[in-house]
Amino acid sequence: MSGAHPEAIPAYIGLGSNLGEPRQQIENALELLGRIPDSRLVARSSLYTSAPFGPVEQPDFVNAAALVHTTLGAWSLLGHLQKIERVQGRIAGIRWGPRLLDLDLLVYGDHRIDEPSLTVPHTGIAERNFVLLPLREIAPELVIPGLGQIGDIEVNELVPRISRIE
Ligand code: AMP
Repeated sequence: MSGAHPEAIPAYIGLGSNLGEPRQQIENALELLGRIPDSRLVARSSLYTSAPFGPVEQPDFVNAAALVHTTLGAWSLLGHLQKIERVQGRIAGIRWGPRLLDLDLLVYGDHRIDEPSLTVPHTGIAERNFVLLPLREIAPELVIPGLGQIGDIEVNELVPRISRIE
């Protein structure tokens, strides 16, 4: 399943940053997403802001979602996302902690992968509004394997509110 696909697969990517000019981090990352080989950036959401989630005190997050059409396999695409995170200098190692840039593969076509190194659809979609709402903006009709119609997934009232900033 990690091999190349002859037909382009729609892959949705979640972006988040809360350090070092978060809006700029997201804009830079979107540009780099557009340069992933064998892939085309097809859509991007507005930017959203949300209060941090978890026990560590830290600045607000900026989040967005993007759609890439790719002939790369899922792991290969993930490798490119991780390279972009590294290039932008992510500070690794603090779980829940501040980060320059976090890129998640949210949905990879209709594939379901359940491994620690790659779980798609991403488990955060139904739990985290900062993932769900930007994704819903660019893909209001999306059917997510195992979760169903994106419009039917309820906004989680237990986690911090997010709002659109542009
Ligand atoms: P985090 O620091 O929370 O972004 O987690 C990064 C780790 O999650 C990496 O080791 C990835 O291999 C793993 N991972 C599992 N599923 C995914 C996914 N859908 N998108 C991005 N990373 C993932």
